[in-house]
Amino acid sequence: MNILVTGGAGYIGSHTLIELYNAGHTAVVVDNLSNSNPEGLRRVAQIIGIQEVPFYNVDIRDRKALEQVFANNKFDACIHFAGLKAVGESVEKPWEYYENNISGTLTLVDVMRRNGCKNIIFSSSATVYGDPVEIPITEQCPKGQCTNPYGWTKSMLEQVLADIQKADPEWNVVLLRYFNPVGAHPSGRIGENPNGIPNNLMPYITQVAVGKRPELGVFGNDYPTPDGTGVRDFIHVCDLATGHVCALKAIERRCGLDIYNLGTGHGYSVLDMVHAFEKVNGVKVPYSIKPRRAGDIATCYSNPAKAEKELGWKARYGIDEMVRDSWNWQRQNPDGF
Ligand code: NAD
Ligand code: UDP
Repeated sequence: MNILVTGGAGYIGSHTLIELYNAGHTAVVVDNLSNSNPEGLRRVAQIIGIQEVPFYNVDIRDRKALEQVFANNKFDACIHFAGLKAVGESVEKPWEYYENNISGTLTLVDVMRRNGCKNIIFSSSATVYGDPVEIPITEQCPKGQCTNPYGWTKSMLEQVLADIQKADPEWNVVLLRYFNPVGAHPSGRIGENPNGIPNNLMPYITQVAVGKRPELGVFGNDYPTPDGTGVRDFIHVCDLATGHVCALKAIERRCGLDIYNLGTGHGYSVLDMVHAFEKVNGVKVPYSIKPRRAGDIATCYSNPAKAEKELGWKARYGIDEMVRDSWNWQRQNPDGF
């Protein structure tokens, strides 16, 4: 298939491009580079072994430019990664988050349908479950109250896409709820490249390990978890990437609307991650305990059985590969791209 990959220059998109080509698909990237660097796409092309990944420096809110992309290409489906994703920033700038993520998706979907492309895979998040009413979390678990505008954009866009599919059954919509992506391509050539101070745990750990930050703050050790620190379902980004390739199968069998958790089904605590990182990589990660971070929940991990049963997808990498590949990327690229 020929796939439009919005946000394809970013962290998850760039890894997904490799898996798409590995599986025999082709891709065209649309990205405004607001949170990514074209060097990432150059490296993706090297890894795949092609001259270049077709790329348009286009904002998905720019209807005219998007129309031009569709005039130049024929797409079988869109994998829609483009969006702003920093939780803390979304609290400071809610308008910008709603406008970028929601207006952007509405424009994209309208241009898609006008051009006869009604297949979309959407990057959603476990954040839509809020404080989940069941653990491990199945797709049946009701959606909950999000604690920030970023989370609400995901929750609202799920509803928007579901309603559009309901009104026009020609659409195939796959909502993928990611748990906590970490790791990098095993080559160490591409990886997560956050701007400024990292919000997420793993890039913070790697920046401490490489000496860019003095210590990790562990946000709370009084949660009702085995060691008191937060428990999450960390998933290797290459596994997440293959999840998108498998999700194309749902589109091929004309799924209508489908929802899948993409996680490993295992919960690891913040300190599990720190200790695994130190042991596997032989580097120290100094840390100190800080107060809980507002909006955090104690425990969140998936039941990924539905994706395995229906898509034949299962995470292959464990915690050791996650911490190894995160470090391999950071060590080789201390200042990112
Ligand atoms: P990322 O920031 O690395 O990638 C997103 C890409 O979208 C960036 O390259 C950015 O430049 C681009 N973009 C943003 N707004 C755009 C616009 N209006 N037009 C065109 N391009 C635009 O983020 P990521 O970690 O790769 O996440 C990809 C998707 O997955 C996002 O939608 C994110 O919300 C979602 N997600 C991420 C996580 C995570 O922890 N990384 C978890 C759950 C869901
Ligand atoms: N965390 C932490 N220190 C940090 C960043 C995160 O202790 O500098 C913890 C956070 O409180 C949560 C876990 O690590 O328990 C995962 O947080 P992250 O922001 O990576 O993902 P989230 O699950 O919040 O989306």
